[in-house]
Amino acid sequence: MQTLKEIISLYDAKSIILSHIKKQSVEEVLLTESLGRFLAEDIIAPYPLPQNDNSAMDGYAVKSEDLKDASIENAVKLKVVEVITAGKKPAITIRNGQCARIFTGAIIPEGADAVIRQEDVIKNGEYILVSKHVEPKTDIRERGSDLAEGEKVLSAGDRISPAIIGLLASLRKSRLKVYKSPSVYIIATGNELVDIDSPYDNFTIVNSNSYSISAMAKELNAIPYIGGIIKDTKESIRQCFERAIEHDIVITTGGVSVGEYDLVKEVFAEMGVKWLFWKVKIRPGHPIAFGVYNDKIFFGLPGNPVSAMVTFDQFVRPAILKMCGHEHLEREKIKAKCLSKIKKKSGVIHFIRGIFSVKNGEIYVESIDNQSSSAINVMAKANCYIILNENETRVEPGDTVLIEIFKKW
Ligand code: AMP
Ligand code: MG
Repeated sequence: MQTLKEIISLYDAKSIILSHIKKQSVEEVLLTESLGRFLAEDIIAPYPLPQNDNSAMDGYAVKSEDLKDASIENAVKLKVVEVITAGKKPAITIRNGQCARIFTGAIIPEGADAVIRQEDVIKNGEYILVSKHVEPKTDIRERGSDLAEGEKVLSAGDRISPAIIGLLASLRKSRLKVYKSPSVYIIATGNELVDIDSPYDNFTIVNSNSYSISAMAKELNAIPYIGGIIKDTKESIRQCFERAIEHDIVITTGGVSVGEYDLVKEVFAEMGVKWLFWKVKIRPGHPIAFGVYNDKIFFGLPGNPVSAMVTFDQFVRPAILKMCGHEHLEREKIKAKCLSKIKKKSGVIHFIRGIFSVKNGEIYVESIDNQSSSAINVMAKANCYIILNENETRVEPGDTVLIEIFKKW
């Protein structure tokens, strides 16, 4: 069991969390309601895409061998024997000397093996004159070239994007199995806190964490419930427990460090929550607690607004993704050229709020001057973390650093 002096690595903390995560149960939703959800079934292509060889252009379906010797001096005359629009089944097999008028997306008729674009022919009654040869398969989208029949298209855990919705619609999938979105109960603790619609004064602190954390949960398609503000008394923390444990995930902010008002860990432990760690070697956010109670998971995030968001990103985000069967629990980290000088203590991983930009194809990043864990305006301006490892102590302008992009627009 961890004592208060012990502090674990980010890596160990994440593996403890992930070892306690179970997948959500499954429900069926309409395709139109599925954006951002996580598939709970593999999708196998019941038929190929496209389903038939079809034309990429408006033009004429021809036998390429007929146009072998076609040139300006030697235009070839072909008889138009059919008009094929998209969605229509061709009726006639193309023989030598024949062609079919064809439109984009329409099925290539038997006998034809290429499409000649309409701007490359001269129309003459029921004939066309072609003065150009074409290679076989020109301007034909081949059956199965986008997706082969029987191919595994998507896997359980994949997150549904607009393009995936289009793909599933093409496969006539109107209902999908998805993982149930975890419900997240969010509690703000602190005697100093008031809610956003309270009248202004200059001594209380507005509860902003419940809103930022709720929004972060929503971005992952989890369902947040704002459980309000709880006073720093054992009784009020106890009282919120019953409501909290109706949810899959319980998140508290504030009250997890070692001050005399930091009662969350103690009271929840009395209620039966088994805390597995409460200090991690990261900054901001080293007082971060993780616990379990039956099949519920508890996160005690620090109260400082930036610390709460950074710890959500690093600990709650991968937990939610794993509950939803998703495979990629971490955002990709990329290299960037740092434009700032940064100093840090060794022994902790820093998540420095930065702004990345791309110039002439190169990625640059600047750290924002104010790295206070209470500076929510800085967090709102930042679009990435500059991640400095435990053993790093300084960065000079021009050094390469690792960044984790969390905002792309
Ligand atoms: P704590 O972790 O409870 O010691 O809180 C650390 C700092 O974060 C204090 O300055 C709190 O006032 C502030 N804080 C705590 N909870 C919130 C919240 N829900 N919204 C905004 N600030 C908070
Ligand atoms: Mg507090």
